[in-house]
Amino acid sequence: MPQIKFPPNVDPEKQNLWRTSRGRGRDRYLKDSDAVIERRPVTWPYIKRFLGEVRPMRAHVIAAVALMPLAAAGAAIMPVASKVLFDGVIPLAAGKTETLAGRSSELPVLLGRYFPSGDLTIIPAFMGALALLAAASLAIGFLMRYLMMTAGERLVTQMRHKLHDHIQFLSIRYIEDTQVGGIISRVMSDVGEVRSLLFGGFLNFAVNVVRMLVLLGVLFYLDWWMTLASIVLVPGYTVVFLRFRKRLRPAWRHIREEVSRLTARVAEVFGGARVVKAFVQERRENGIFFKWCNDLMRKNMRVHRLHLGMHSSADGVAQMSRVLVLGLGAWRVVDGQISAGDLLAFTGMLFMFFDPMVEAVQINNQLQQAMASVERIYDVLDRKPEVQERPAALRVGRLEGRVEFENVAFRYNREAAKKTLDEVSFAIAPGECLAVVGASGAGKTTLTNLLARLYDVESGRVLVDGRDIRDLELAPYRRNLAVVLQDTWLFNGTVRENIAYARPDATEEEVRRAAEQANALEFIEKLPKGFAEPVGERGVKLSGGQKQRVAIARAILADPRILILDEATSSLDSRAESLIQEALERLMKGRTTLVIAHRLSTITNADRILVLEDGRIAETGTHDQLLASRGAYYRMFMEQYGKVKFLRRAVEQKVGELAALPASAE
Ligand code: ADP
Repeated sequence: MPQIKFPPNVDPEKQNLWRTSRGRGRDRYLKDSDAVIERRPVTWPYIKRFLGEVRPMRAHVIAAVALMPLAAAGAAIMPVASKVLFDGVIPLAAGKTETLAGRSSELPVLLGRYFPSGDLTIIPAFMGALALLAAASLAIGFLMRYLMMTAGERLVTQMRHKLHDHIQFLSIRYIEDTQVGGIISRVMSDVGEVRSLLFGGFLNFAVNVVRMLVLLGVLFYLDWWMTLASIVLVPGYTVVFLRFRKRLRPAWRHIREEVSRLTARVAEVFGGARVVKAFVQERRENGIFFKWCNDLMRKNMRVHRLHLGMHSSADGVAQMSRVLVLGLGAWRVVDGQISAGDLLAFTGMLFMFFDPMVEAVQINNQLQQAMASVERIYDVLDRKPEVQERPAALRVGRLEGRVEFENVAFRYNREAAKKTLDEVSFAIAPGECLAVVGASGAGKTTLTNLLARLYDVESGRVLVDGRDIRDLELAPYRRNLAVVLQDTWLFNGTVRENIAYARPDATEEEVRRAAEQANALEFIEKLPKGFAEPVGERGVKLSGGQKQRVAIARAILADPRILILDEATSSLDSRAESLIQEALERLMKGRTTLVIAHRLSTITNADRILVLEDGRIAETGTHDQLLASRGAYYRMFMEQYGKVKFLRRAVEQKVGELAALPASAE
């Protein structure tokens, strides 16, 4: 079995959960005492909040609850009918006044007022009445369930919406840490579980309780001795039930987390299908998946065992009670205390009486499962976005585009000893282009993340047009920005939709012009469906250079004041390069640009260059100035481009020229 690689955010203790889970058939790690995941006594607050979610559907729920006693009473129809049949209808139709066995009943006398003794018409009348009652009961049941279903579906939609909405506005850190699959599983399956909390959980439970009460009432009316005999075992059952119940929730929580992790894994592996195939890791991925599935299966089996245990004990109690009641009933009929019809009605109802009890196990199982999901949902809903708007945040219109970093420091992880960025101060004038260069890991991307306010600075300030960006409303501020990333992200839609992503209301003509400026029009027009051509997931159907030009067109259409560019490191052929270069120049024109530069032409064309080293600014200046000072930039430049001989010569010559100049000429 291959060693499992854990995503970095799985804490070591949970990894141990996996490791100790090796070996077949055992699941010692599933003992609740071993569960790393804490057991919080949270049911009530969560239920209260959950009921709050149900509020918009309250009309449906109240109507369903109101129908409940009627629907529950329907359960008593058949048993009571059998009593009427045995004690009233049959004797009367047969021309007798006493019941078949046991004590006499007033039923034949009662029915005798309407039907003459010995008249068989009473039988069809009885059938008709019974059928009517049954139909009414069915209709009520149907209506009640329909109301519940509607409420349930609405609830699911509403919760999904709420979660999606909330996650959208959570900070990038949470979204990146949670893994896409984890989010999918919360939005889709956890929310689905919540529906069963409404049906399987509360409402079914309530129906059953009401039904038990109705039946209990009728039972007491029929014979309270036998009623006592039938419920004498219930307390024992309750104890067993509660014991099992306590163990069910943590088990379910484990399962929900496993499912979430499995979904995340599947999403990740198939998202990276190219890499998997390129490195021939299909088998290994299968192996890992297989193992994780097996683990999940064992955890599921544990829940099933718990559940079956509860189920069997409920069944056992029901059966024993029936035995007791049948014996006692026979005795009391012989004794003349009750009629045969009473006994028949009684046993019929008693059987039904225990059904809810057995069902309660099922319901409880669903309830525990759903509560585990509800916990996970609220865990997300309770998260506050890390990057927040201040209450009196300013709504900016179109910015001028002056950017300043004032002594900025930042760490991704507040516990980390080393700062990712430290003492970073620089300014970009409106319309200026600043190229950021530096070794990989120097903090270039982090710089752009702070400017886009995906994260907030730890100390210092980021100012735009002289205002701290934390004092600005997020959305209007970000509308002034556009980002063209190295790893161009296109959505699975048409070319047009991707270009118009930031401005879905853009006209055909605007989209076209943007494409033209981005040097993309030519290739787009050659596509079979032109602008309506689907680009495939992440734009797989376009080449690297084409994707980049679509992304540039998208930025052009967004018409930002501040532009963040992350140049692709991989070089394209020279024609594609020059097309993109040209497009970028058009895009950058008149806009403040912060570019993470890799191409020589971008670097040399930039107004200024900022050299980052290990999160600090090593140097700033123009290309010529930096070369002349022979510092970090010079070394880096020589390392990267100096290998090309003629270039080196040219550079050295240039440096020589510069050095020869008098200092005042710089
Ligand atoms: P560059 O863009 O210059 O290659 P980055 O700004 O991406 O560098 O990264 C700077 C440092 O911050 C690196 O050490 C990197 O490991 C770390 N880092 C980057 N992104 C994250 C993140 N989301 N969470 C934690 N650390 C990160």
